Amino acid sequence: MKYHTYNIITIGCQMNKSDSERIAAYFEEQGMREEEDKYRADVVVLTTCGVRQSAEDRVYGFVPRIKKENPSCFLIITGCLSERNDVKKRLKDKVDLWIPIGDIINIKNQITNKLQIPNSKQDNCGYLELEAKYSSKFKAFVPIGNGCNNYCSYCVVPYARGREKYRSAETIINEVKGLVRGGYREITLIAQNVNSYIDGRQQAADSRKFGFPRLLNEIDDIPGEFWLRFATSHPKDMSDELIDVIAKCEHLCEHVHLPAQAGDNAVLKAMNRGYTIEHYIELINNLRRKINTRINRAINRTNKSRNYFAAPLSITTDIIVGFPGETKEQFVNTAKLFKEVKFDMAYIAQYSPRPGTAAVKLVDDVPKQEKKRREEALMKILRKTALENNKKYIKKTVEVLIEGKNKHGDWYGMTRTNKNVRIDSRQQTADSRNLLGQFVNVKIIEIREFGMRGELI
Ligand code: SF4
Repeated sequence: MKYHTYNIITIGCQMNKSDSERIAAYFEEQGMREEEDKYRADVVVLTTCGVRQSAEDRVYGFVPRIKKENPSCFLIITGCLSERNDVKKRLKDKVDLWIPIGDIINIKNQITNKLQIPNSKQDNCGYLELEAKYSSKFKAFVPIGNGCNNYCSYCVVPYARGREKYRSAETIINEVKGLVRGGYREITLIAQNVNSYIDGRQQAADSRKFGFPRLLNEIDDIPGEFWLRFATSHPKDMSDELIDVIAKCEHLCEHVHLPAQAGDNAVLKAMNRGYTIEHYIELINNLRRKINTRINRAINRTNKSRNYFAAPLSITTDIIVGFPGETKEQFVNTAKLFKEVKFDMAYIAQYSPRPGTAAVKLVDDVPKQEKKRREEALMKILRKTALENNKKYIKKTVEVLIEGKNKHGDWYGMTRTNKNVRIDSRQQTADSRNLLGQFVNVKIIEIREFGMRGELI
């Protein structure tokens, strides 16, 4: 192959990051090496996201600049935008190869021959069997499948990634075992809709036998010191069985990300979400009741000191404001949801029409200013509830996985409940250990809405 170096730019979600790790490993297997400067690499890959207009606009910024500064590079676009005809038309002179993510496995032939092979979405998760070049030495995303069958009316993912396809439980469990053996401390199972997982080997036959609850159970049984997370769950597929298993698995962190998207039933229906807000709230209550009971039981069992903190389950969500036709009254229902659930974090997006989706046919009738106002109103409630939730941590000791050092020399990391914690560097001078990728106990001395500061114990 005439190409020796590669650079990958990833835009968007955890799934895209994981895809890029697999593309990187594939290039290395072909004898190529990573070039950190995208303006010097022989091959530049953009793993793109089409979920929001802002993510799409980043591609329109990157592509002409790369081709101007590095005209001889072979530029590849994969991910959500790789099959959008309007994007192809707009960038047609600047991109050398458009490749759906499921076809990445054939990338060598495509680079060599400059051929566009037919879309192989029939097996859009075969590429997940490529070994990944994990970007961290202690945290890893393990994809369990690809694609989505849900067709939420605003979302491009089912068109960009195809229908749901899942890996076999055996290959997923083996990948996790290998990571745990290699000292990985945090594993996140990812797919567009993890809780509709079925063992990839059984999709054609009796698929009910090995679903997500059983997968979690089997991974939880792997011996070793590691945290387990998963993303993303769909409320309509969060069964009682799954909640019971989540409450039982001790490796699983006390954090659930459950996208509500809206707090009003008519808006949820227009979004084609498949649940009511009453059902969503019931799920949150069940999760809190069962998981918090488990935490308290565990503390009684291990007879920890009174200062050991039974951090309650943290709940995070995704919300879209200004969906077509969303009235002020309907928005007020979303604000009520925020007050009732008291989220720890919410990723709030202003609606933007996405080409090819069902909602693009609706009139985008909520003015930009009003979308901004609604976003700010939710942020105001979120700041209040998140701060209130965090107050419970003051003077308590929590376990933190150290992820790095900031520019001031302070170690920082995450709790099991997904809270950012920074450790005061004045205290660190007395403790010169390299804490990267380690679990440490930290006493929380200061809290903010979305972060905390603490001291090593
Ligand atoms: S569940 Fe809905 S929002 Fe999530 S990826 Fe599938 S279609 Fe998109």
